[in-house]
Amino acid sequence: MAEDKKKCRVGKSAIHGLGVFATEDIKSGEEIIEYFGEKISKEESDKRGIERQERAKKTGEAAVYIFELDDEFDLDGDVPGNDAKYINHACRTNSEAVSDGEHIHIVATRDIHAGEEILYNYGYAFEHFMEHPCNCGFPECVGYIVSVEDRPKLRRFLSRHAKNKRKKSK
Ligand SMILES: [Zn+2]
Repeated sequence: MAEDKKKCRVGKSAIHGLGVFATEDIKSGEEIIEYFGEKISKEESDKRGIERQERAKKTGEAAVYIFELDDEFDLDGDVPGNDAKYINHACRTNSEAVSDGEHIHIVATRDIHAGEEILYNYGYAFEHFMEHPCNCGFPECVGYIVSVEDRPKLRRFLSRHAKNKRKKSK
């Protein structure tokens, strides 16, 4: 996409660090930006993922930037110029990441106004939710980054946990 055709820009986010913001009105269903990166095997992907998690433990910067393309390949978005990697997760979203097997496209799921922050659900698996707290600030925030499908499961888990805590403190 040519520089002058960009529909968004990187800027400071109220949710977390840097974010990506619409620079023009974007219609529902329109592609906002391509999430580009290096196509890598699952094996290489696992290796890089573990390395970055180790690094994250030391630096506190929890950024892995690896996307699933299909059953065979992943996409490592930690490359220069990939502005889409700055898009934040939130529990209320206005876009989604769509893979066509070669590329990942960030597509608007509703009409977005110029100036709005672009947000999608990172869709992390339930198993690792504790490592990914969410501070998006929306009323529907579940407190952690998990896929939409796993949200009811997380709510049940957290409410059970809260009850146990209350019992113990008596
Ligand atoms: Zn949230």
